[in-house]
Amino acid sequence: MRRPLVVGNWKMHGTRESVRDLLAALLQGLPGNLAVEVGVCPAYVFIPQAFEQLQSSPILLGAQNVADREVGAFTGEVSAAMLKEFGCHLAIVGHSERRQFYNESDALIAARYQQAIKHGLCPILCIGETLKQREAGQTFEVVDAQLDAVLERAGLDSLAHAVIAYEPVWAIGTGRTATPEQAQEVHAYIRQKLAAQDRRIAENVRILYGGSVNAENAKALFAMPDIDGGLIGGASLKADSFLTIVQAAGETC
Ligand code: PEP
Repeated sequence: MRRPLVVGNWKMHGTRESVRDLLAALLQGLPGNLAVEVGVCPAYVFIPQAFEQLQSSPILLGAQNVADREVGAFTGEVSAAMLKEFGCHLAIVGHSERRQFYNESDALIAARYQQAIKHGLCPILCIGETLKQREAGQTFEVVDAQLDAVLERAGLDSLAHAVIAYEPVWAIGTGRTATPEQAQEVHAYIRQKLAAQDRRIAENVRILYGGSVNAENAKALFAMPDIDGGLIGGASLKADSFLTIVQAAGETC
C-alpha cells in the first residue's frame, strides 16, 4: 500500500514573511491524523526558518535541488549533508526548469540523486517530455532515458528510498494539465518498466504527477491507479488550494 504524498515546490517565490504565513496556514489547516504525507520545498534561504517553524510538525521539509558533490569549492551549491542538518527530508532533482534553463544533464542529475540517497535524503526525481517530444511520439523513450541514467548510477534498489515525479514539461506552469488518462498511461508505463526488473520495488515506489495540478483537477488525477500524489507548483503557494489538493489525495489516492 503506497501512502499518498503531496509536495509543494515553491520555486523562487516568497519572502520571510510570506513563507512564515503560508507555513502557519498549512499547519493550522492540516487535519490531525494525516493519511497523506505532505512536504514543502521552499527556496534554500528560507529553509532554516521553515526548519524552526516545522519542528515536531508532520510537514516534511525539502529542498529544490541538491549538490552532486560532497563538499568543497563548488560555488553556489548546497550539499546533502547541509540540507540534512537543516531538517530536510526531501530534495527535488532533475526538475525540468533545471534541465531547461540551467542545462542540467542526465549525468549531473544522476550524481545529485546519488548524493541525496547517500545522505538519507529522499530524492524526488522529475522526469517528463517536452511538447515537441510528445508530438513526435517520443514520450516513453524520453522517460526511459531519464530514468535509466539515474538507475544505472544509483541502482534500482535506490528507488526504495526515492520518489518519482512524472512532470510533462508542457504542463508545468502552463495551466494545461495532462488529462488523468494521459498521466495514468505514463505512470503505468513507468511502473511496468520497473516491475520487469523488480516487482516489489515497482509496487512500492510512489509516482507523483506534476503539471498544473490545482484544487479543481486534483481529484480526477489522483483517482488514477498509478498516481500516488502530486508535485505542486503554482497551486502550492496558496494555503487554501494546497490544502484542497492534500485533501483530494487523502480521499482518492
Ligand atoms: C512544478 O514546478 O513541479 C510544477 C508542477 O509546477 P505547476 O504546478 O505550477 O505546473
